[in-house]
Amino acid sequence: MIVIQFDVESGTRMSHPYAQMPANVVSDLSPEWRRDLLPGDILRRIYSNGFHPFIVLRRADIHPASVEICPHQNDMEAFTTVLTDWAGHSRFIRGLQHAIKSEPYEAAFAFFDWIFDPEDIGNAYLYDQHEYPFPGYFDYPILEVGGSGPIFAVDKVDLLADVFDAYQKSKGNDRLRFAILEALGFALSRGMGAIGQYTRALEFVGRALSAQPKSFYLPMCLYALEQKINASSVPVRLEKFLNHDLHALDSVVCPLPFTRLEITPDGYAHVCCASLVPYTIGNIEENSIPQIMNSENARKMRASMLDGSYRYCDHVNCPQMIRDKIPKKTDPEILEDPVLGRAVMAGDLEINEIRELTFGYDWSCNLSCPSCRRETIIDHHMQSSERANHIKQNIVPLLSRLRLLYINNAVTAHP
Ligand code: SF4
Repeated sequence: MIVIQFDVESGTRMSHPYAQMPANVVSDLSPEWRRDLLPGDILRRIYSNGFHPFIVLRRADIHPASVEICPHQNDMEAFTTVLTDWAGHSRFIRGLQHAIKSEPYEAAFAFFDWIFDPEDIGNAYLYDQHEYPFPGYFDYPILEVGGSGPIFAVDKVDLLADVFDAYQKSKGNDRLRFAILEALGFALSRGMGAIGQYTRALEFVGRALSAQPKSFYLPMCLYALEQKINASSVPVRLEKFLNHDLHALDSVVCPLPFTRLEITPDGYAHVCCASLVPYTIGNIEENSIPQIMNSENARKMRASMLDGSYRYCDHVNCPQMIRDKIPKKTDPEILEDPVLGRAVMAGDLEINEIRELTFGYDWSCNLSCPSCRRETIIDHHMQSSERANHIKQNIVPLLSRLRLLYINNAVTAHP
């Protein structure tokens, strides 16, 4: 990480070896750059990095020329402290922080809250493709908080769309750049949808999906937007993918994350069908069952049932959501259940037993058929004995207390 705190008045507090750059770089810039967009000194600092850094943040309220930069996605770990600090000042930067942490749901919500809060000001400096301010400018936007910027939702949506364009047309840092595009696509689906720009939102979601084809959330945005554009009804639970969150699931609690475990062929543990909840809570090849049951991810999953976000669940395809079958938090059978009652009434996220196990820890199959595999799959002896050890250590102790056990080769079908 390179942090530059540069004081225009005194001129010299610079920490980077490229800092001694020729003064004429500033005067080489056209007057417009110097006058209207960024202080020439900031561009000079960026140029002095030797290449255009991936993230450039400007805090205009500290000093007009105060910037912090993360040169490359591989430097992001060291940049986390800066991001965390700056995220406290604006949800514009908090959205970026979540995006970089591969938390697109949280990112989209932060960006959306920023869009609709006229007092939370953020801005971005973007340059025209044919008028770069200096050679080697890669299109990454320069993000700013603490200065001026758009206030109205419609203008903030336009700014976010411009930021999306900039990240999409730039090159390099693909892992994090695509993660940012996914988060921005989700945020734009919500932001544009909320001001009635559904077709425009659909275009951005499609572009985000082309950058991040395995996105979990973008297909939900796509579905909700298509429903809206086709004048079909959009279930209330899906409104938050194209509009404000209507908290449709606040009053219900799905019992599965408190009672169930599903083990996939590669040992990953899920609370539900892995296609509906890809979020994993551990792996039996690395963690014990007690560790898995109360892992950080398991607790986050349960918390998402209690806060009503269901953020790890497929809102389009979950059969319980579609059929409106998730029990209410006030149902007697929920309140009288020792685990669910404690969770609902006291927010207790710990569990000490698994009641239902779907066991699919095995790829092997001596059948071949056109529906799922065209060849038989044979486990090698070593793999089998390793699997046997994991099963003996982690699964067998569970059996005496299970109420339901599904043995489901390779979890090929949901029970
Ligand atoms: S996807 Fe549906 S059934 Fe699965 S945990 Fe979420 S709400 Fe429950």
